[in-house]
Order: sequence, then C-alpha cells, then structure tokens
Amino acid sequence: MRIQQHAFSAFSAGNPFLKGALHVHTTRSDGRGTPEEVIRLHHANGYRFMALTDHNLINQQNLCPDVPMTFLTGIERDFSLPGRAANKPHCVHIVGLGVPGDDRLPPQDFHPEWAGRGESCADAQPMIDQMHAWSLSTIYAHPEWSGTTYRDFGVLTGNFAMEVWNSGCVMDNGLDNHAAYWDEALDDGQRLWGVAVDDGHSMDQHCHGWVMVAAQDDPASILAALEKGEFYASCGPEIHDFYIEDGVAHVDCSPAASVQFVSLRHPLPCVRSAQKDMTHASCKVPEGLRYIRAVVRDAGGLQAWTNPIFLR
Ligand SMILES: [Zn+2]
Ligand SMILES: [Zn+2]
Repeated sequence: MRIQQHAFSAFSAGNPFLKGALHVHTTRSDGRGTPEEVIRLHHANGYRFMALTDHNLINQQNLCPDVPMTFLTGIERDFSLPGRAANKPHCVHIVGLGVPGDDRLPPQDFHPEWAGRGESCADAQPMIDQMHAWSLSTIYAHPEWSGTTYRDFGVLTGNFAMEVWNSGCVMDNGLDNHAAYWDEALDDGQRLWGVAVDDGHSMDQHCHGWVMVAAQDDPASILAALEKGEFYASCGPEIHDFYIEDGVAHVDCSPAASVQFVSLRHPLPCVRSAQKDMTHASCKVPEGLRYIRAVVRDAGGLQAWTNPIFLR
C-alpha cells in the first residue's frame, strides 16, 4: 500500500504502512504470555514492529529471534497519585520508546527504581524528564483508566502522543472515552498524536488496537515517523490518506459504514453509507477550526483514527 502526497496530507509520501504494537506486557512483568508467545502472536497477526513495555523494565531486543520483527526499545513507568477516595487522580503511567543501540539508553533489563508517588500529575514530570534524558520518546497512557482528565494531565510536557484506544481498558473496564480526552488536549493547543494500543496482559487482550506507521522498516525511521505523526491508529479499518485540498478535508479508506470528521467545539458531518462500503468521504473545513481529525468505522463498528491536521 502506497500513499500519495497532497497539500496538508497527514502522511509523508512514498513509505509503506507498517503495523506496530507500542504497549505490550509479558511475563517479564505482570503479563501472562511469555515474550516468545507474545511476539509469535503479533507476527501471526501481521505486525512488523513492536515494543515490549513491561513495567519498570527496559527491553531492547527481539526475545524470539527466529521471528522477523523490528523492535523499539520499550518500558512503562508508573507514578502513584492520591486516588479516587480523595476525589483525585489515581496514577500516571508513561510508555517510553527508543531506538535500540542508542548509547544514552539504559541497558537491556535495566530496572529503574519505582518513580514513587505525589499529589498531582505535575509531580510526575521528573519521571518523564528522566525518560527523555534516557533518549526515550514518551506516550501518555490510558488517561481515563488513570483517573486523569485533561484538567489533570494537561500540565505534563514532552509527551509526543497519548493513547486514544487501549484494549485492556476496554476489555477489563469498558473504558473507551480516551478520544474525548484527546479532543480536550488538541483544543487546548497540545500537539499530541493519538495511538491505539492493547496494553495486553492476558493473551486474549493482544492484537486488537495498533498503529500503522508510514516508515521504512527500521527502528529509527519508525520512531521518527511516530514523532512526526505520520501514522494512524486502528482496531480494524485502513486509512489510505487524510488530506485537505482547496478547503475540503478528504479521507480515503477501506470499505466503511461511516467517516466522522471531528473538531471540538464545532460539530462536523458524520458521512454514512447505507451499503457500508464507502471508501472516500469529504467535509468542507469551516473557517477558524484549530484542528480537524477523522474517525472511520467499518460495518462491524471497529474504528480507525487519523491524527489531527492542525489548522492554526
Ligand atoms: Zn499502564
Ligand atoms: Zn501497561
């Protein structure tokens, strides 16, 4: 699959889309599957790259080397907050991704001390800053599960993305409102991309939410494309292109039941197809929007999310 370059396109020209898993647990922390089982499962589901992000444990390697899979360095770190009994946020979890071999990264199996606890999200900033000092790019994980609304986590700086779909949160807790938190962040001017992940702990939680990154198949190219937002998030549908031309936003996608255009504070059309086979939708972009993004839903209700195109 190739994508074309348009004015204000969300993707860069010429690179194939690679399917990737950015938030994955194994028996190296509290996951049920061994690294080998988890890597084999992702390979069987068409993944080209992944990161093992076990809690407070660095992984840099393909731990199932006979499976062809590109690896990003991965870790998830956590910080505790007062919790719901105090009507306060519960925790801050941050996923860190890197390019294996970068000499600022901690070594394989490095186990940083627990980052501790604080009173508010702002107290977690030193943990995030330390991850950046280790040359990791950071994602704000599952805000809804963490009990942190944008009012709470909006103070944090340096994350390039946040989770808009987390299979574990949906399967365990029915929490699927992360994209609403994303719109609050985007409306407030944050340049945060949206990723879909599994955060899989049990084996049945893997391979439901992923990113499709327009990149060459090497860790540096993949991480650079992630940081630039040259990807989309999906639980099923494909998004071939998302662009604005002559004041009209366009989505090209796999057969869809609907394509919804989204910008907080301005209702935009949800284009529907009775036959559920629409592969293109468009929407005139009203004056004054801060950003626009789109959500593709297939006949089974599975979603894919473009990243936003920022308009001011
Ligand atoms: Zn977490
Ligand atoms: Zn996790």
